[in-house]
Amino acid sequence: MEQKYFCKHCGSEIKKVYLPVDSDWGVEYLFICINDDCGYFRRGWDWMWNNYHVHASYRFMFNPFNGYQGPYPVTKENDIKNAYLEKIER
Ligand SMILES: [Zn+2]
Repeated sequence: MEQKYFCKHCGSEIKKVYLPVDSDWGVEYLFICINDDCGYFRRGWDWMWNNYHVHASYRFMFNPFNGYQGPYPVTKENDIKNAYLEKIER
């Protein structure tokens, strides 16, 4: 059975998300919080706007290959959640 991981911000299970082949992460997949109610994700929009004037945010991300936890940057147009959901529908 695959190990489960949880978002340290909202506590929901984070999902294995396969990355685009041209991604810069150097790994095949990451575990990412796709909960739209996650406080980390919700606060990120305001923070990015106030600091950088861009419509972007980030989701909690865990890289199981090196144990790194951090932000995965997203925009409304390029949200990793959409990629994840497309994968499920296949
Ligand atoms: Zn979360």
